[in-house]
Amino acid sequence: MKTCPNCGELVPIKTKHCPHCGQILGGSSKSTQNWFKALTPTEIFLLILGSIMLAVFLVAL
Ligand SMILES: [Zn+2]
Repeated sequence: MKTCPNCGELVPIKTKHCPHCGQILGGSSKSTQNWFKALTPTEIFLLILGSIMLAVFLVAL
């Protein structure tokens, strides 16, 4: 058994998806998940705010 990095539940070692949260375990998508997880809630908020501002700016043109 190993623990799911997303929800912390115990999952079978050979499983590719966490049965609890659907997290893909191992494989190439892991690094893609990690960069997003490394962001703080403030940084995520600023990213969303930035994209909204950009969308408003593009519409205003
Ligand atoms: Zn999980």
